[in-house]
Amino acid sequence: MTRVALVTGGTRGIGHAISTALKYRGCRVAANYGGNDTAARQFQAATGIPVYKFDVSDFAACQEGVTRITRDLGPVDILVNNAGITRDAMLHRMTKENWDAVIHTNLDSVFNMTRLVIEGMRARSFGRIINVASINGRKGQAGQANYSAAKAALLGFSKAVAQEAASRGITVNVIAPGYIATEMVRAVPKEILDTKILPFVPVGRLGTAEEVARCVTFLADDAAGFITGACLDANGGQYMA
Ligand code: NDP
Repeated sequence: MTRVALVTGGTRGIGHAISTALKYRGCRVAANYGGNDTAARQFQAATGIPVYKFDVSDFAACQEGVTRITRDLGPVDILVNNAGITRDAMLHRMTKENWDAVIHTNLDSVFNMTRLVIEGMRARSFGRIINVASINGRKGQAGQANYSAAKAALLGFSKAVAQEAASRGITVNVIAPGYIATEMVRAVPKEILDTKILPFVPVGRLGTAEEVARCVTFLADDAAGFITGACLDANGGQYMA
């Protein structure tokens, strides 16, 4: 059966790899993005996957986006809440604006998108919801109180909704990647990577976006129906919960 998959932040970085992996697995995929039109155009030209620009932190915009995607591709069977940002600072220097930006984009977005697809999934008795959290939501990270808080919240959200939706054939799971070689991590100064991050990754390297996408296709599969409320850590052994 051809499933419809919606990947937020699906045009760049980890999301790019998730969108293409789901397409390769036979899904009809919609890739959302927030503002980088050039990257989205390149992505669409390279993959043939349609792109949808809307701000996942804005409920009304999500509503409009999900309506368009449903009209174009059909109702969403697989939702991957992947869009995310960082606005790092120690708490004593963190602005309210940067707190709000991260909470709205990384956490409110997951409510917005999940709320908009869950009723349809319940009605059709099938759904796969996969929330991309982070190692830093599992263990906390200095300089990322906003990001760690938002990502940790995804675990509570997912476990609660997993319980609510289990009897309707819907699974809700979290993937918590470690440090993955995307633009988000390339923004970390090399000296910090070499001295403060890589020495603590037993596998000895950054992960790849494709390795995270592999976790998504595993959890998104029709055959993964007995896995729900779980967190799949993909972090090279950096944090063993
Ligand atoms: P990138 O910065 O490479 O890509 C982020 C994607 O999210 C882009 O497509 C971007 O759209 C989109 N996006 C950002 N804000 C919004 C918004 N308000 N509305 C819609 N789309 C938005 O990030 P990564 O690929 O590195 O990260 C993907 C996810 O994985 C994030 O949730 C991140 O927190 C998580 N993660 C990443 C790790 C890493 O090491 N890279 C480690 C652990 C977790 P646009 O192109 O328009 O800007």
